[in-house]
Amino acid sequence: MKTRARFLIKGIVQGVGFRPFIYNLARSHKLNGWVLNSTDGVYIEAEGEKEVLGDFTQQIQRKAPPLASIDSVDVEYLPLENYRDFVIKPSSGDKDKYIKISPDVCTCKDCLSELFDPKDRRYRYPFLNCTNCGPRFTIIQDIPYDRPKTTMRDFKMCPDCQAEYEDPVNRRFHAQPNACPVCGPSVKLFDLKGPVKCDEPIMKAVKLLKEGNVIAVKGLGGFHLACDPENDEAVKLMRERKHRTHKPFAIMAKDLDTVKSYCLVTEEEKELLQSYRRPIVLLEKLPQCNISSLVAPNNNYLGVMLPYTPLHYLLLDDQLSALVMTSGNISEEPLAVDNQEALDRLSGLADYFLLHNRDIYMRCDDSVAKVERNQAVMIRRSRGYAPYPVDLDFSMKQILACGPELKNTFCLTKDNHAFISHHIGDLQNEEAFSYYRNAVQHYKNMFRIHPEAIAYDLHPDYLSTKYALSHEDIKLIGIQHHHAHIASCMAENGIKEKVIGVSCDGTGYGSDGKIWGCEFMTADFADFQRHAHLKYIHLPGGDKAAKEPYRMALSYLYQAFGQDFDKIDTPLLHRLEDKKIDLIKQIIQKDINSPMTSSCGRLFDAVSSLIGIRDAITYEAQAAIELEMIASPDVSQSYIYNIENADDCFNINVSGMIREIIHDLNQNLSKGMISAKFHNTLANFITETCKFIGQNWNNESDKVVLSGGTFQNRYLTNKLYNQLKKQGFKVYTQKRVPTNDGGISLGQAVIANQQLS
Ligand code: ZN
Ligand code: ZN
Ligand code: FE
Repeated sequence: MKTRARFLIKGIVQGVGFRPFIYNLARSHKLNGWVLNSTDGVYIEAEGEKEVLGDFTQQIQRKAPPLASIDSVDVEYLPLENYRDFVIKPSSGDKDKYIKISPDVCTCKDCLSELFDPKDRRYRYPFLNCTNCGPRFTIIQDIPYDRPKTTMRDFKMCPDCQAEYEDPVNRRFHAQPNACPVCGPSVKLFDLKGPVKCDEPIMKAVKLLKEGNVIAVKGLGGFHLACDPENDEAVKLMRERKHRTHKPFAIMAKDLDTVKSYCLVTEEEKELLQSYRRPIVLLEKLPQCNISSLVAPNNNYLGVMLPYTPLHYLLLDDQLSALVMTSGNISEEPLAVDNQEALDRLSGLADYFLLHNRDIYMRCDDSVAKVERNQAVMIRRSRGYAPYPVDLDFSMKQILACGPELKNTFCLTKDNHAFISHHIGDLQNEEAFSYYRNAVQHYKNMFRIHPEAIAYDLHPDYLSTKYALSHEDIKLIGIQHHHAHIASCMAENGIKEKVIGVSCDGTGYGSDGKIWGCEFMTADFADFQRHAHLKYIHLPGGDKAAKEPYRMALSYLYQAFGQDFDKIDTPLLHRLEDKKIDLIKQIIQKDINSPMTSSCGRLFDAVSSLIGIRDAITYEAQAAIELEMIASPDVSQSYIYNIENADDCFNINVSGMIREIIHDLNQNLSKGMISAKFHNTLANFITETCKFIGQNWNNESDKVVLSGGTFQNRYLTNKLYNQLKKQGFKVYTQKRVPTNDGGISLGQAVIANQQLS
């Protein structure tokens, strides 16, 4: 018997080739009716025999396009309308409704085979794309997502492209960035003087890279600086010009086999590398590989990604197996995106510029991820992920959470969506700050969000805080940094009840005005209560101490040995000039520019310097990272510590550990052993403190939530995870959202939401 079925399909079903898929599927089932994009999702009406409709329904789920993700399919049976054919109806919109906007998607298999097919009209065309792949977020200026609202607006499609665009069965039906060599963008090579005359700019660029040049390459979300990672001289040159002494560079490898010649790759890592989101994945380096040791010095891991645009595939075609691909900027400034901007700002960095004339509307850095305990873990959630929201288990009021200062992201919420922005970066200069303000505005427009409250970090000097406080006539909600870390982890794990929260990181402004960073609390979204922390210690020189770990080493020696600490026999004190030691001693004694801190990051710094790993750093967290890298595996010993009762809040005193480390150094115990024992000590005192809090304050819950930059440390986190499990705790860590400050904005949003209700 014939009937009419009406479907409403929700999920990621727009801008992913879903309507052509439905059109073809309906045709092949000889069903009549229509398909329509609306702000609720995709509506379909189809008429036919019941069994045929049943098969159609199953195939919608089974054969959906690769980028589609179906949350729900609702079906309703209605009287026949007697449709005569199957059509795609024009979209219906509502100006306050919004759709999920796709992130940029790596080149798909079909496009890739066209790219290398000499008979195809897009043979070696660096901008080919289709409904299943190509730029999205970075070229969209407004919604609905149509060509006139993208930076493809100025390219008028040629008749061939136009025909594909209008043909419902074509892979390029309504592919907004559709282009070909006749009508689309093109690349040009420049040197410092101007355009370089050549027929094949990409081949020429490959040759120049092979010769050791540094080239600025315009990509999807900004410029990369590229050079040959197998060429020591080229990498060295790039380091010198970028003033980046040690911080690891990411590489882009030609294909999976090439990656495997550099690194160990597990099944999960392979999947992550090959996902359409194409993040940089941190992989364990093989002891022998062709990559220059200057790419990631003193690091056991290498950040690797696979090509994600046609241009990348062409660059990595025959002669180059990999490229260093690092952000085209000077230190932590925003990425360069415009051609002229790149020529101006990157002229001291690059020898050549591979430019193109498709504008980047929104810059977007590469994402960084790793696999932990067989699951993907985000370190930087950006290209390929943003602006897809992180979906929560509960509905949110409309809120803007401004995020932290370093590794900034902001977050806007609506319904059950948390639109966490792409990586904005460090808000420490006017350029970054104006980029930030523009991006906030852009997200508000795209997702039609009108915040009723603004959440911000308590640190009065953060530019994100100043931005929040510049608003009038709107509710402003200040949120403690580590509470936000814990709430972020709770939210992504769908936990609402009170938990034991452990937040370890470098710096966060405390409710008492001190610098927090190793915090134990019971918390829910409404509030938190701090029960324990690392014992306060002087941070000699304030911010300077984070850059010069020896300062914290001296401060810990002072705490452990008293004011005559400078008389003890340990390599650090022999290494440092007396006047440096005296200065630190004096500023601690006189309490000059030496605020109190319970920072976990600074404890890593102290130990790293004490054992001679690093006294001064050239990038954030370097001393801690290098300390982790040398830790010997399978060590069970640890050091002593004390948990002391002080004014309602327990203090973890590690003076005993510092004294034992000095002893181990004098006994010539290896640095790897000392590092392992140090990590084990941390895991021990965190576990013991959690047990203690569980017994005294939180009988109802057995959940421990871990968040903060310190938990990027694999050695510590894995050890701690297992120990807590053994004690019967359920342990939650961050995965979809970074555990570092990139995840703060989500926590701020959910806490603010709680305060509004
Ligand atoms: Zn494609
Ligand atoms: Zn064309
Ligand atoms: Fe933090």
